[in-house]
Amino acid sequence: MNIVVQKFGGTSVRNLECQRQVMQKVLRPYREGNKVIVVLSAMAGETNRLLGLAKEWSDNPDPAELDSMVSTGEQVSCALFAMLLKQQGVKARSVLGFQAPVETDCAFGKARIVNIDEKKLECLLNEHDVLVVAGFQGCDEQLRITTLGRGGSDTSAVALAAAIKADVCEIYTDVPGVFTTDPNMCSDARKIDRIAYDEMLEMASMGAKVLQIRSVEFAKKYNVTVHVRSTFSDELGTIVTQEDESMESVLVSGIAYDKDQARITLVSVTDTPGVSAQIFSPLADKRILVDMIVQNPSKDGKTDMTFTVPRADVDQTIRTLEELKYEIGFEELNSNLNVSKVSIIGVGMRNHSGVAARAFQSLADENINILMISTSEIKVTCLIDDKYTELAVRTLHNAFHLDGGEPLETL
Ligand code: ADP
Ligand code: ASP
Ligand code: MG
Repeated sequence: MNIVVQKFGGTSVRNLECQRQVMQKVLRPYREGNKVIVVLSAMAGETNRLLGLAKEWSDNPDPAELDSMVSTGEQVSCALFAMLLKQQGVKARSVLGFQAPVETDCAFGKARIVNIDEKKLECLLNEHDVLVVAGFQGCDEQLRITTLGRGGSDTSAVALAAAIKADVCEIYTDVPGVFTTDPNMCSDARKIDRIAYDEMLEMASMGAKVLQIRSVEFAKKYNVTVHVRSTFSDELGTIVTQEDESMESVLVSGIAYDKDQARITLVSVTDTPGVSAQIFSPLADKRILVDMIVQNPSKDGKTDMTFTVPRADVDQTIRTLEELKYEIGFEELNSNLNVSKVSIIGVGMRNHSGVAARAFQSLADENINILMISTSEIKVTCLIDDKYTELAVRTLHNAFHLDGGEPLETL
């Protein structure tokens, strides 16, 4: 049997009218004789509403109960959508994470998928033509409900596509594809026709929330082509796939930004072997993603250690490190929540120098101060004051000619 996997995000399922449009997208492959796995998000705004409720009830909600509650958004959209399909005479049913089952570890709020039983899925598909699977959720060994982190429905969809060995996973969203930067921030942004997994990984990890980073990791690992496209038009979107030569010839493919960042500084850390491990191991154990790290040169055996974490993890980071204050041996912990990251990404950068210099100069021309810098083979990231995010994104987008015309092949 041929199986098509389609995922629709929150804005695509936000009301009855939108769900009717989604239904047309689903009915097309169904009428062509395919079985369809449809992965849905919660209706737009619902996950935030549920998280807000939990905050009202508790300053520090129990993570397992939080997942149990916040996963209900997807349960509602899936059941409603299955009702629509059944009304059309389609043999369909909703499938929750624990019913598929999507097995995960027990890291509530940021669980990782460890297995999807394709045999069970095949059985369900033998009895139904369309499965409406709840994105974002799974269950751990104890059958407790887990969630996969914000934007996790993308990962659910790609993981399901990998499990059933589908060639393509279609991700339908509220923009027509992956753009050179967020089209809702920069009106000059251009749609990218094809993008390499590695570039998309950097874009996603640097804040382009059009795809959750884990979904791209899955796609790369299991060689699933991802087609990001609009729910509200028929135009072709962006193909996320393996790198080819034409991609390398473009110097910079996109600019990403992430406003959900915070900077932490540990002042006067005792500079001895093992101190970095003492700081970062406990954070890694809690799945806190530390990104940029700068250690100042040591003076009198003491150094300052500065790094960035997602803003949502700041409280936990501070709690964890304060508890270890004397073990690690630092004097003071400072945090700054008013920072954001802007990144320039492109596989073509590998073989060219000067990209970072051009980026720094164009930010300087706008009087934007750079607080921290980090680089990889295909990325340059600057931490800046978050009030300059939009200006920095537009400036870099212009500096690398991403707004149209000939893409920059060399500097
Ligand atoms: P969904 O609810 O469909 O999962 P998301 O809101 O998670 O949608 O992701 C789509 C949004 O990602 C777009 O509306 C856009 O604002 C944002 N975005 C950020 N960077 C990019 C980019 N480079 N290309 C396209 N969209 C981007
Ligand atoms: N509903 C979840 C969120 O808002 C998952 C998703 O939409 O992908 O993050
Ligand atoms: Mg999303």
